[in-house]
Amino acid sequence: MSKREYLRKLYLLQDLDLLIQQVKDPEYEAKTGLKVDEERIRDLENRRNELARELLKADPVTYQKYEMLKRRYGRGITRVVNHMCTNCFAALPASVIPRDDEIITCPNCGIILIWLE
Ligand SMILES: [Zn+2]
Repeated sequence: MSKREYLRKLYLLQDLDLLIQQVKDPEYEAKTGLKVDEERIRDLENRRNELARELLKADPVTYQKYEMLKRRYGRGITRVVNHMCTNCFAALPASVIPRDDEIITCPNCGIILIWLE
């Protein structure tokens, strides 16, 4: 798996993590007016766990970094917009660019960075 593909999958994992967290919030139904379907949550969790296993196996160091950052910031990976980290809002040095052979982290806050079009 290329680093680029890994990051896309990690970003998807985070989407699933945030979604699961959201629908498990006891206030979710009251806040959104949407009914929570337990079976669909289990499906989401199975999909999430399957993806997490794949990512842990492919690159344990990056996966563990993601989990550690998620505990600290509530997320482990964030988008770069206008050459700015969207976790800490620091402008990134010009030398920080997406690479195919390396996972790039923010020099200011340490979060894993992804460039999406
Ligand atoms: Zn940052």
